[in-house]
Amino acid sequence: MGFLSAKLYVILRQKRSTVQTFQWACGVPIAWGKCYTTESLSQVYELMDDIWKDHPEDQPGFLFYDDACNLVCHMVTSHPESLWLHSTRFIVDAFHYVTHRATDAVCHLWCNPSPIDGSQPDLLISQVNEAREVILQCAYNSEAAEQL
Ligand SMILES: [Zn+2]
Repeated sequence: MGFLSAKLYVILRQKRSTVQTFQWACGVPIAWGKCYTTESLSQVYELMDDIWKDHPEDQPGFLFYDDACNLVCHMVTSHPESLWLHSTRFIVDAFHYVTHRATDAVCHLWCNPSPIDGSQPDLLISQVNEAREVILQCAYNSEAAEQL
């Protein structure tokens, strides 16, 4: 099961295009693609589809993306038969999740990077702090793409 982090990078010399990178949570980049004019959810979806079109069996189990909840909504409405909806859990990275609305049911239920209801045990690890309290932490670096 792979954990991916995706990030949009702006190329300053080409003001009308951006580069979307994909890398493993450990920080190793695996692919990139160019978005023209501005990043749109359809462009991000097309990049993902293009990158994994020849080996869909290798689509990651989890993909961190700052706008994951809207990407899921885009796929459900525009690509309801997409394999991505079955192969991958789209998670908002921890940094951006704090700006997402708690009342957004799709975001809170499906894209939460730290679900404490036990629904995604692969995302969290428990640790004991100095006060001997058990705390849950993200098991993966969802900010890898921010650090490239
Ligand atoms: Zn959201």
